[in-house]
Amino acid sequence: MSFVFNPPEIVSVPVTGSAQRFPAHRVYCVGRNYEEHAKEMGFTGREPPFFFLKPADALVVINEGETGALPYPTLTQNFHHEIELVVAIGKAGKNISAKDAHEYIFGYAIGLDMTRRDLQNDMKKQGRPWCIGKAFEHSAPIGPITKASQLPHIQHAQIELMVDGEIRQTSTIEKLIWNIGEIIEHLSAAWELQPGDLIYSGTPEGVAAVERGNVLIGKVTGIPDLMLQVV
Ligand code: MN
Repeated sequence: MSFVFNPPEIVSVPVTGSAQRFPAHRVYCVGRNYEEHAKEMGFTGREPPFFFLKPADALVVINEGETGALPYPTLTQNFHHEIELVVAIGKAGKNISAKDAHEYIFGYAIGLDMTRRDLQNDMKKQGRPWCIGKAFEHSAPIGPITKASQLPHIQHAQIELMVDGEIRQTSTIEKLIWNIGEIIEHLSAAWELQPGDLIYSGTPEGVAAVERGNVLIGKVTGIPDLMLQVV
């Protein structure tokens, strides 16, 4: 087969303790999935889960032990961090029940749902899509995926983000309004999940702006730290 130009490379994420990589398909994100974060965004926290997408080439893939570079995007004066647990899907499925969801999970990673908050807020006010605030290049940093079999207690994990050594966000996976199984149940009712799909599960309270030069370290118990610098 020949193409009119070279097709893009497949974006892939390293897998902890393996030479094989996880090829990315879609990047789904859950909105307002921690009560205290929903409140800081001006909502009550009681609503069905809702979803948005980022293109797979928005991933910034950072290897274990490396400090990745996160380019400061255009058009914003309010570039926000959102630390999130990312669920990596290993098997296709639709209409998956929450109790069966674990069968579809390949593993977990730490991710940042980076947001041009000023642009997102403008779009919200006008009732327009959020794409410009959420789905831009380099908006989805992600670290290596740890296999689910190595994380039997992920539902009790701590999640934390430090910026220049100071804790900005800290919570637990237990505080998700919609837990991982319920997210997969809702998401797979609307889209057929595919192996390679990544689900950013929602951020706890404490979202705030970063500037060029800031060093971000994301932590989730049992998963290698995510480290990057805004450039
Ligand atoms: Mn988010």
